[in-house]
Amino acid sequence: MQGARNAIRAHPERCVSCGRCLLACRKQGVLEFDGDGRVRVADAARCSACYRCVDVCAHRALTSGLPGGFEGEMRSE
Ligand code: SF4
Ligand code: SF4
Repeated sequence: MQGARNAIRAHPERCVSCGRCLLACRKQGVLEFDGDGRVRVADAARCSACYRCVDVCAHRALTSGLPGGFEGEMRSE
């Protein structure tokens, strides 16, 4: 799954800029904040599709982009 192009999808309109996803991600440079302080996928090729970021985001601002993907809030509640 390493480097799956659509493994992770950001929804910046839901992001509250808490930074939890950046702390949870063990791959440097996949996620970053845009100029408005909202999450974006900067380098999808480095994503290992571990979904730690999806699990820690309480605002569903990160979801799986793969077919049959999931949203974190639904898994963690
Ligand atoms: S954990 Fe969710 S709300 Fe917090 S910075 Fe990341 S995407 Fe935004
Ligand atoms: S799925 Fe894993 S590797 Fe990919 S951005 Fe989220 S925490 Fe980082």
